[in-house]
Amino acid sequence: MNLKIRKGDIVEIISGSFEDKGKRGEVIKVLPKKRRVTVQGVSMRKKHQSQVQTQGRSMNPGIIEFEGSMDISNVMLVCPKCDEATRIGFQRDEDGLPHRFCKRCEAMID
Ligand SMILES: [Zn+2]
Repeated sequence: MNLKIRKGDIVEIISGSFEDKGKRGEVIKVLPKKRRVTVQGVSMRKKHQSQVQTQGRSMNPGIIEFEGSMDISNVMLVCPKCDEATRIGFQRDEDGLPHRFCKRCEAMID
């Protein structure tokens, strides 16, 4: 199974919460078995820490923000060539290795 989204890709959020829709960010984590991805700066969650580790910061002590994961179907790859959120196709090279290409401008992505 080839996942269309990989770590380090820039993706656009195409569905999900109102605040996140249309945002772009870098994929920082892929969970292939759960078909979920974590995108930098998107789907922020708050977590309470039992201990405050940094001193001198008075804003919301004990609360840290982190990115929550989302279903992989909620994101679309942004093509590095045409800069559009696009569908991805696979094309095999002479060694049989699959490479992704942009279905919009047909540029090879990797
Ligand atoms: Zn493209």
